[in-house]
Amino acid sequence: MVFDAIVAGAGIWGCTVARTLADGGKRVLVLEKRAAVGGNVRCETDPETGIEVHLYGSHIFHTGIDEVWGFMRRFTEFNGYQHKVLARYGGKTYFLPLGLALVNQFYGIDLKPEELPAFIAKEAGKTCAEPSNFEEQAISFIGRPLYEAFIREYTRKQWGTDPRNLSADVIRRLPVRASYDVNYFPDWRQGIPLDGYNAVFDRMLDHPGIEVRCSAEFRLDDPEFAPSAERPVFYSGPVDELFGYRFGHLPWRSLRFERERAAVKDFQGTSVVNYTGAEVDFTRIHEFKHYHPENRGAMEAPSTIICREYPKAWKPGDEPYYPVDNQASRELLAKYRAEAAKVPGLVVGGRLGEYKYYDMDKSVARALETAKAAC
Ligand SMILES: Cc1cc2nc3c(=O)[nH]c(=O)nc-3n(C[C@H](O)[C@H](O)[C@H](O)COP(=O)(O)OP(=O)(O)OC[C@H]3O[C@@H](n4cnc5c(N)ncnc54)[C@H](O)[C@@H]3O)c2cc1C
Repeated sequence: MVFDAIVAGAGIWGCTVARTLADGGKRVLVLEKRAAVGGNVRCETDPETGIEVHLYGSHIFHTGIDEVWGFMRRFTEFNGYQHKVLARYGGKTYFLPLGLALVNQFYGIDLKPEELPAFIAKEAGKTCAEPSNFEEQAISFIGRPLYEAFIREYTRKQWGTDPRNLSADVIRRLPVRASYDVNYFPDWRQGIPLDGYNAVFDRMLDHPGIEVRCSAEFRLDDPEFAPSAERPVFYSGPVDELFGYRFGHLPWRSLRFERERAAVKDFQGTSVVNYTGAEVDFTRIHEFKHYHPENRGAMEAPSTIICREYPKAWKPGDEPYYPVDNQASRELLAKYRAEAAKVPGLVVGGRLGEYKYYDMDKSVARALETAKAAC
C-alpha cells in the first residue's frame, strides 16, 4: 500500500488519529514500538481468573465531552462502572474525595451540607496569610488536620520531595464537596469497556485503510518513513527522544508496580485504596476485578490480582509517567518544540510528545482535532 500518512505510536492518541484519518479516506501506516497497540492503556487478561489487569496503572474512562463519548461508543459499550476511591489513614478507611462523608468521619461530627463550607473556612482560616508553597496553599484551602492526614505524605511519596519544596501553583484548587457524593469523577459518562480496553484499540485500527506494524520504532533519521508535507508523520513518542536528547532529558516521575495474586476472593472490597500515611512507601493498592462487577466469573474466582503502586524518580530507560512541570523543564520543552516545528510534515502529540498529563478523553479530543485538521 502507498501511504498518505504515518502514525508513530499506537496509544489512544495515535489510534484515534489513525482511525480519523482512515475514515477521511487516507491510507495510514501505524508504527508501534512495543509488541502490542494500546500504549499505557494496554491490559492483559489473567488466564486463571479472567480478571482484566491494567498493565500501566488503573484506567477509568470518563468524559464530559460529547464528541469523545460518541467516538468511543463506536468501538465499545461501557459497563457503567462508577469510580470511587477510598483512603486508609490512621488504621481507618475513608471515602474520598474531600466531602461530607470524609469530614464527618474524620472529625467525628455530623455536619449538614449547608454547614460544611463554613466549617472548612474556619479550619482553613487558622493559617498564614499568603501561601508561598504547596503546603501553605493546601492548608489555606482545607486546614492543617485534613492536609496532614490526606495530602501531605501522599504528595511527598508522589513527588519524592517535601510538599514545602513544591510551588503553590501545583495546587490551584482543592474542592470540598458539600454532599455525600463519593463518585471520584464528576462525569456521568464513565465506565470500563465491556470486553476490555485491548478490544477497543483492535476495533479502532480494524479499517481497510490502516496497516499496523508492531515492534516497529519510528526514527526521524530513517529515510523510509521521513515526514513530508505530502506524507505527514503523527508522532506520539517522547519529543526529546525524537531528537536524540540533544538538549538533555525532560524530567519525569516514574512508577513501580508490584503485582501479586492474593489467595482470597476479595482483598479490599473496592478497586483503589489510597494509602495517605508515611507508614508504607506505596501510594495505592489496585484490585482489578472490581472494575468489572458484571464479570461474575472473575468476581467469584477464589483469588484476586492486586497491585501496589510505588512512585519513584525517573531515570533514562524507566517508563515515563508524570511530567515534572518547572521552569527548567518548560525551557527544555520549548527548545524541542522549536526543533519539531522545523521539520515539514511532522506533527507531535500525545502525552509524551506534548510532555503533558492528559486523561484519556482529553487525549482523544486532541487527537480528533489534530486528525480532522489534516483530512
Ligand atoms: C498512572 C496513570 C494512570 C492513569 N489513569 C487514567 C484514568 O484512570 N483515566 C484517564 O482518562 N486517564 C488516565 N491516565 C492518562 C492516560 O494514560 C493517557 O491519557 C493516555 O495513555 C495517553 O495516550 P497517548 O497515546 O498519548 O500515550 P501512550 O499511551 O503513552 O502511547 C504512546 C505510544 O507510543 C509508542 N511509541 C513511543 N515512541 C515510539 C516510536 N519512536 N515509534 C513508535 N512507537 C512509539 C509507545 O510505545 C506507546 O505505545 C493515567 C495516566 C497515568 C500515568
